[in-house]
Amino acid sequence: MVNLDYMIDPGWPYLRLTDDVQLKKKVNKDDTQEINPANFEKTEDMANLTFLNEASVLHNLRQRYYSMMIYTYSGLFLVFVNPYKMLPIYTDSVANMYVNKRRAEMPPHLFAVSDLAYRNMMSEKENQSMLITGESGAGKTENTKKVISYFARIGGSPKEEKAKKSKGSLEDQVVQANPAIEAFGNGATNRNYNSSRYGKFIRIHFSEKGKLVGGDIEHYLLEKSRVIKQAPGERSFHIFYQIMSNEKLRKQFFLDDDIRKYNFVSQAEITVPGMDDTEEYGITDNAFDIMHFEPNEKNDLYKICAAIMHMGNMTFKQKPREEQAEADDLTAATTASKLFEVDMEQFIGALLKPKIKVGMEWVSKGQNIQQVEWAVGALAKAIYARMFGWLIARCNKTLASNPQDSAHWIGVLDIAGFEIFDNNSFEQLWINFVNEKLQQYFNHHMFVLEQEEYKREGIQWEFIDFGLDLQSCIDLIEKPLGIVSMLDEECIVPKASDSSYVDKLHTQHLGKHPNFQKPRPPKGKQGPAHFAIVHYAGTVRYSADSWLDKNKDPLNDSVVAVLKTSDKKNVIYLIWEDYKTEVDREADASRGKTTEKKKGKSGSFMTVSMMYRESLNSLMSMLHQTHPHFIRCIIPNEQKKSGVIEAPLVLNQLTCNGVLEGIRICRKGFPNRMVFKEFKYRYAILAADEASEPDAEAASKKMLEKLSATNKLQLENFKVGSTKVFFKAGILARLEEMRDHAL
Ligand code: ADP
Ligand code: MG
Repeated sequence: MVNLDYMIDPGWPYLRLTDDVQLKKKVNKDDTQEINPANFEKTEDMANLTFLNEASVLHNLRQRYYSMMIYTYSGLFLVFVNPYKMLPIYTDSVANMYVNKRRAEMPPHLFAVSDLAYRNMMSEKENQSMLITGESGAGKTENTKKVISYFARIGGSPKEEKAKKSKGSLEDQVVQANPAIEAFGNGATNRNYNSSRYGKFIRIHFSEKGKLVGGDIEHYLLEKSRVIKQAPGERSFHIFYQIMSNEKLRKQFFLDDDIRKYNFVSQAEITVPGMDDTEEYGITDNAFDIMHFEPNEKNDLYKICAAIMHMGNMTFKQKPREEQAEADDLTAATTASKLFEVDMEQFIGALLKPKIKVGMEWVSKGQNIQQVEWAVGALAKAIYARMFGWLIARCNKTLASNPQDSAHWIGVLDIAGFEIFDNNSFEQLWINFVNEKLQQYFNHHMFVLEQEEYKREGIQWEFIDFGLDLQSCIDLIEKPLGIVSMLDEECIVPKASDSSYVDKLHTQHLGKHPNFQKPRPPKGKQGPAHFAIVHYAGTVRYSADSWLDKNKDPLNDSVVAVLKTSDKKNVIYLIWEDYKTEVDREADASRGKTTEKKKGKSGSFMTVSMMYRESLNSLMSMLHQTHPHFIRCIIPNEQKKSGVIEAPLVLNQLTCNGVLEGIRICRKGFPNRMVFKEFKYRYAILAADEASEPDAEAASKKMLEKLSATNKLQLENFKVGSTKVFFKAGILARLEEMRDHAL
């Protein structure tokens, strides 16, 4: 039988003939990689493989996946391959088996890493982090949920068990924040029916004794464009459909039974296979109760979503030869204003004729129809994004711990991995930049650990800090005159455009910065591109279309001012509390308050990049206070099928998620290690006389001397530490071969 997986991509160089492949093909010798000895088959830790290469890593993951062994270690990484079926491996009894166990005692598992993090925190008195990345649909969020539940369980007290029955123990709340947030932050995409459209960092706080005392959540990069636009096959955020599934809410918010009437949320799909919106609504609403949201708070959230749906139906017209738009049908605007509890005339007036400052004067400036429609969309997105931020802040209020009780925390990061699409824009630049930073953090961490190990074992060896490899790409993006700062600059230059920005970038970097390139001509269906960046995971072509707008993210201040006239206890008011309109700022100034134009938290003066940079810096500085644990999720195929591995797809992810990079670094050192005792027993047959020495250390040293004297083992290929022997990659395979011959 021919295993077709190998044939998907004819350019696939790592043809490897295993038992199930009866396929003959000529390949270049340089394109082949060596096979590991049989005792490495389905190994639990791929760092132990003596031939550390791409083909053997893929082979190992694949063989394990076929046996539904979905977790595998690769040195410092825990690799997860999405099983796409429920496996009985997350039950309480399995979780119990991992409590207090060392890594080698149990099969690789998320719980093993979680437990290690918890034990490290307790013994080292150090914060911990779990960094979970992967492509969309790879299983990051599911793994995140399991980790959080694990910590809630081991940190929860028996007393909490009892409190569980009365809704809302802290243990429950830490877990239940998720469904509340997911309803608003997740939506169905082609890749994943429950795709998180934001990144998050959840910290679980523990007391000195390791008891759960609270939590907090930080969120990143919400994809707010989904509020007004959906690609074919996709849906907006779940909450809209959950609201529409509930008759009571529809009545209360003047919504029609037919969702197709609301074009903001019905451009593509309105249902999702296997998802019952009525049931999901119940779960969301219940989660809010457990999170101790007041009835009016959760009702306000639903109400705002309903108002957004109505906003999408506001219509405008522009008479021929007129330059300014006017309102057409006012029904939707009336309903939206009613739900926002603001004056409809003011609301629509602010959209049609926003107040703009000209010199010292405020004037009302009419807008054309495109401008008005654009402003409505921008407002809908801004309201949604701010509401999402408010919702998370509200959850944090419930989860807040008493600062005196919190001794340490474990942070769990669930964030999109490196992205290379046909068309890469501003959003990809940011997500790739975050991943570049995280990879650097990994490389540096690995360097520190290796260095420590060599030192502990008394080995003279300078391991290289491969974190530095990524510095030049990071500099290109974040340094002054880099890609981001030049974008910020261009946003304040009058008459600047996306193309003037691209021109300046080229002048500054083309031919001068090694990581900045002209995009190579498109292959296949790739979209337009203006420049390319050489990331560690690959060269990515970026299109700078709309970057100035995306970065400025302009909002009609006049209409925000109208929304701020709503009652101060309404969520629609609260979400703008920290937003200063131009008018607010003037008022502050005339009252003598400093306006802290740029750096202040005032929101409107910051570019999107500035806000992203601030949150990325804060994330990185938090991570630097932790002992990190790295979990890499892999999507095995694009059909959501269990048991099917698409080799090129998996290999590409191993490149992007840094597993192969980890292996590359590993190979620079002495990745395979064996304690003296094991070495002595396993290879006694190669130097029987020397091995007869009873002391394992002395015996090992004598054996190694003999092997190198007889030229069976070169001196540069091993190092002797104080408890074990260290080998260069591939050397153990040679020893294994000699052993097989001798046996
Ligand atoms: P991501 O957050 O990486 O985009 P998700 O965690 O939402 O991906 O997972 C996508 C889908 O994959 C889930 O809805 C589920 O069907 C499946 N899945 C993920 N992890 C597991 C798991 N551990 N066991 C079974 N199915 C899983
Ligand atoms: Mg997710």
